[in-house]
Amino acid sequence: MGGTFDPIHYGHLVTAEAARHLFKLDQVIFVPSGRPPHKLSHKLTPASERLLMTLLATAPNQNFIVSDWEVQREQISYTYDTVRAFHQKFGDSAELFFITGADAVLEIMQWRQIDELADFCSFIAATRPGYRLDDFQASPKLTAKLGFLEVPALAISSSDIRGRVARSEPIKYLLPETVEMYIYKHGLYQDLSG
Ligand code: NAP
Repeated sequence: MGGTFDPIHYGHLVTAEAARHLFKLDQVIFVPSGRPPHKLSHKLTPASERLLMTLLATAPNQNFIVSDWEVQREQISYTYDTVRAFHQKFGDSAELFFITGADAVLEIMQWRQIDELADFCSFIAATRPGYRLDDFQASPKLTAKLGFLEVPALAISSSDIRGRVARSEPIKYLLPETVEMYIYKHGLYQDLSG
């Protein structure tokens, strides 16, 4: 499961659990983005902090694990490189799925080496209820490897949580308490300018 996780919230966790159940996955590996290609000019929370919050949020679920693979790399985080590394690690017998948000998947035809990536994995795109897919266009090969999953809990969003913290509004019950405590203890999202 790929994402910036800035911060991770219950929408991500519900998505992971729903995908695990529906697609009968053995485990979900959360891979916080290092330097995502489409966000090179964005101000992101340091990768080490996003990684820690992801560890805190996923710790209670024995089927969830976290990988620091992208975070540890200096290079831009292309999903192709990440999935290929997992393919090498787990071997041909493992069936891999790349789970992420549908907004990210809408641009999938522009992703690096997307055709080769589709040889290594299938894709699960999580949508918010009422999400319109009218503009979605992909090659037949990709369309065949792509599943959509509607997740009501994705009404929660990282950007809304960041805005709430900056405006001193509550974030309780939108994300695990451990992550909430981490955000306040380390003063994250106080200033969204810049
Ligand atoms: P994003 O553009 O920040 O997010 C797009 C939407 O998807 C947001 O609404 C976001 O909600 C949601 N979302 C993101 N991750 C999700 C997840 N794991 N489960 C459910 N919803 C999720 O997306 P991003 O986080 O930067 O990128 C998503 C993944 O796609 C990353 O792993 C990234 O590396 C990969 N990607 C790869 C390429 C490439 O290889 N060329 C290009 C683009 C993206 P929240 O803001 O609430 O998370």
